[in-house]
Amino acid sequence: MKKASIISVGNELLNGHTVDTNSAYLSGELFSIGIPVEGVYTVGDDISSILRAMNLSAGDTDVVLMTGGLGPTDDDITRQGFAKFLGRELQFHEELFEKIEDFFVRRDLKMPEKNRIQAYIPAGAKAISNDVGTAPGIMAGLKDKLFFAMPGVPSEMKKMFRESVLPELERFGRGQAVAVKKLKCFGAGESTIAEMIGDIMMRGRNPLINCTVSYGVITLHIIAEAEDKGKALKMAEDDERRLRGILGELIYGMGEQSLAEVVGQELARQHKTIATAESCTGGLLAKLITDIPGSSKYFLQGLVTYSNAAKIKELEVSAELIETYGAVSEEVASAMAGGVRKTAGTDFAIGITGIAGPDGGSEEKPVGLAYISVDCGLGCETRRFIFSGDREFIRFRTAQTALNMVRLRLKT
Ligand code: AMP
Ligand code: MG
Repeated sequence: MKKASIISVGNELLNGHTVDTNSAYLSGELFSIGIPVEGVYTVGDDISSILRAMNLSAGDTDVVLMTGGLGPTDDDITRQGFAKFLGRELQFHEELFEKIEDFFVRRDLKMPEKNRIQAYIPAGAKAISNDVGTAPGIMAGLKDKLFFAMPGVPSEMKKMFRESVLPELERFGRGQAVAVKKLKCFGAGESTIAEMIGDIMMRGRNPLINCTVSYGVITLHIIAEAEDKGKALKMAEDDERRLRGILGELIYGMGEQSLAEVVGQELARQHKTIATAESCTGGLLAKLITDIPGSSKYFLQGLVTYSNAAKIKELEVSAELIETYGAVSEEVASAMAGGVRKTAGTDFAIGITGIAGPDGGSEEKPVGLAYISVDCGLGCETRRFIFSGDREFIRFRTAQTALNMVRLRLKT
């Protein structure tokens, strides 16, 4: 299986001034054509660093993609590093020079002498044309391996990659393909899910199962490698079936789907409506629901009732209930859901009350405590959670968990 490395060159990438977006873009592109990236190096504008990264890359992988350091100023020295790695001299190319000169002439400018360096490429290498900037790219082969240098400016790099580098790589990587499926899970921790799926997650297995986590959403990436796309896809689908069999309703969706999207689709499909009454999440749940285009079909109303007075006035939560159990309680969450369901006249309603922190917690009611209530007319389910993390995390987890409760309720 052919693999690739990426080298991002530029001092600005090492001091936090510029975020290396080029390698993320290239990794994604390479992955989609079945040449996975095995390593990404970030180095400064320094010949020995460039050489070291090129040697490491060439030792491990078959394709090396570099970006940055092809500019005309003295700090840009990727072409010199490239030539040194190949053990060849830089050669001047008249036709490249004319093209660079023409770039300035077309803009009614005189070419600065500094740009002359961009007409030099290592002997035996091929120039890759760049019609949006002055710096041509460089391509060279060495011992069955392919090396490319592209400009650092993301728009120039992307255009050059799509138009000139990608076709070369597609030819180079013929006979291998990768298929990826993403399963989105919610409702159990990363380690619980890993335990449930057991050996299927073994390293070195094909398909390879990788796991990422974001705000409680666990994404299982099924990555299958085969000689052609059809076969790889079939392998990924077989694993998807196996994982669905094991994880059941912990899997809420596929690909890039969010919980709000899946819940929205299901509400629309069942012709049901929903309303929300939020305290500690301050409208975040309503925001997540209405982030989905077409949510007006099912989302009728969202109230943020932050104070006790608002809960009493807008939701008809009784003052005694708050007095007896406290605003953060199972009873109040359930009364909030019931109240907004009545006001909005919906099929479903969610009530949320909790302590997002960082202050306001007590031994009995710690920061992160949340009561979430889902009222569907036939009954009200209220659950108690204690989330850990900062205020933002607690609020997001609370809203997501509420969506998950509705999702599971819609299944029954
Ligand atoms: P260079 O080709 O090295 O002269 O880079 C030109 C500009 O492109 C830099 O000043 C950065 O703003 C940007 N750039 C270079 N490398 C990257 C990278 N890896 N990711 C994002 N932007 C970059
Ligand atoms: Mg640079």
